[in-house]
Amino acid sequence: MKFVIAQMKHETHTFISETTSLSQFNAMGGGESLEGGAAIAASRGRNSALAAFIDMIEAAGFDFEVPFAGEAMPSGPVADDAFEWMCERIVGAVAKGCDAVLLDLHGSMATGRFADGEGELLGRIRKVAPDLPIGVALDFHCTLTDEIIDHASVITIYRTVPHVDMYETGERAAKTLLNIIQQKISPIMVARRIPLMASLEKMRPTESPMKDVMDLIRELEAGSNNILNASQSGGHPFTDVFPGGMAVVIIAKDNPEVAQEAAERVLKVAWEKRNDFVEPVEPYLKTLEWAKNLPGHPVIMADSGDIAASGGFAADMTVLKEAMRLGFEDLVAGPIHDPVSIRQMVAAGVGSEVTLDIGGKTSAPRLNYTGDPLRVSGRIRAIVDGRFKATGPMLRGLSVSIGLMAVLSTETMDILLTEQRVEALDVAIFTHVGIDPRERKYILLKSRQHFRAAFEPIAAHLVQIAGPGVTNPDFSTFPFKHIERPVFPLEKDTGYRLAKLGKVKH
Ligand SMILES: [Zn+2]
Repeated sequence: MKFVIAQMKHETHTFISETTSLSQFNAMGGGESLEGGAAIAASRGRNSALAAFIDMIEAAGFDFEVPFAGEAMPSGPVADDAFEWMCERIVGAVAKGCDAVLLDLHGSMATGRFADGEGELLGRIRKVAPDLPIGVALDFHCTLTDEIIDHASVITIYRTVPHVDMYETGERAAKTLLNIIQQKISPIMVARRIPLMASLEKMRPTESPMKDVMDLIRELEAGSNNILNASQSGGHPFTDVFPGGMAVVIIAKDNPEVAQEAAERVLKVAWEKRNDFVEPVEPYLKTLEWAKNLPGHPVIMADSGDIAASGGFAADMTVLKEAMRLGFEDLVAGPIHDPVSIRQMVAAGVGSEVTLDIGGKTSAPRLNYTGDPLRVSGRIRAIVDGRFKATGPMLRGLSVSIGLMAVLSTETMDILLTEQRVEALDVAIFTHVGIDPRERKYILLKSRQHFRAAFEPIAAHLVQIAGPGVTNPDFSTFPFKHIERPVFPLEKDTGYRLAKLGKVKH
C-alpha cells in the first residue's frame, strides 16, 4: 500500500496585485528543499497536518512519498508557473501509481488563472486517478467550492483560532481515510453553506457565537456512530472567490440524510446568531487613547489593519505614528517589514545614530491604499540573523528563518524591523533581538487572532486596534466582485439560504 502525501498551502488575499512565487512556499522555513526526505525531516515534531499524515502512515506501516511540501505566507495570488510546478509534482507522483492521497491544503488559494487553486489540483488528481481515496486537511478560513467537495473523499478542517490543532486535523482526516482504504467503511460526504461573512474578529471558537457552532460540531463528531467527521469553515473575507461564506462538511457512515440534517442544524445555529458574528469597528485613535491608561504590563496592542498572516504588508505606520503623538513610553513596536531600512541600518552599523523612513513603502491600488513611511531618528540597538527556534503553541518546533532583524531605539520606544514579512506569532521574535516583552509597558504588534496563542499568557491586557490597511476589519472598504450576493452583513436584509456544495455529492 502506497500513499502520496503533500502540502500546498496558501491563503490568497485576492485584492493584492503582487503575485506569490514558488520561492515563497517556504514560510519562515530557511530555504531548504521542499520535497522527499528533507520535507519529511522538516515536518518532524511540527504542528501541521503534514506531520500528522507522515506519522500516521508510518505507524500504519505503509509506504509513502512526499513529492512537495510548501507553505507560503498569505499574500497576493499564486503565480501560475509556481502553481503548475507544484501541481506537476503532486499529480505526477499520483500518476506513477498509489493507493491513496493525503493533502495538507489551505482551501483559500487563488492563482493568476484559477480562482480555486485547491479545486483545480484535486480535479487534476481525479483525472489521473478517478477512484482514488483523497483525504484533505483544510484551514478554518477555507473557501469551500463545489470542486473541492466533489473531488475529495474526506475533508477535515481546523477547529481552533489561533490554529493550534493543525496536527489533530491531519489525524482526523488520515484516520477516516485509512478506514476507507482498509475497506472498513464507504462513507458519504455532505457539504452545505450559508451567505454569512463573519468578521475575522468573531471567528474564535473559544468564544460565542463561534463557540456555540463549534461545540455542536465537536458534539456531532464525538456523539454519533453515524457521523465520522464534522467540520466547519469560517470562510475568508479577503479571498474574493465564489461562493464565499460559511460552510459545514459532514461525513456520515452511510446515511446522507443524517449528514444533511446535521449540516443544516449547525448552519441554522450560525445563522440565528448572524448579528453576533459582526464586529463593530471602533476608531483606532479611541482604542489607543483607552489602551494608554490601562494598568499593569505588558499592554499588548494588536493592530489588525495590515497583518502579515492575512496577506497584509506588515508595514502600515499609522497606529505607531499616533502612539508617538499620544506620548506612549516604554513601547515596543513591530515587526515592521522594511528591507530598505534594514540595508541602511547595516550600512550604518550597530550603535550608530540614524534617521530612517520606516515602513509605508507599499500600496494596493484595488483598495485605494497607499502606505506612508514614518520618519524616526534613533540609535541602532541590534542587527541579528533572524534564525531561531519557535517555542509557542502555534509554531512549536519550527526553525524560523526570516532574514535580518534590526532594532531602532529612541528614548521612548524600540522598533523591530524584519527583512522578511512576518507576524508576531511567537514571543521568540522579540527575545531573539534582546527584547523581553514581559518587562515592557506596551507592545504594539500587527495581528488579529494568531498572536493570542503565544502572547495571551504573558499579557496584562490584550487590546485589538482596527488600524488602516489591506486587512482592516471594515468589509465595506473591499470591492467584492466574485462572492455570491446577497451576503450578510454586506446586505443587511439577506435571507436564510441553505445551499448545497458539490455538484455530484449529496
Ligand atoms: Zn486560518
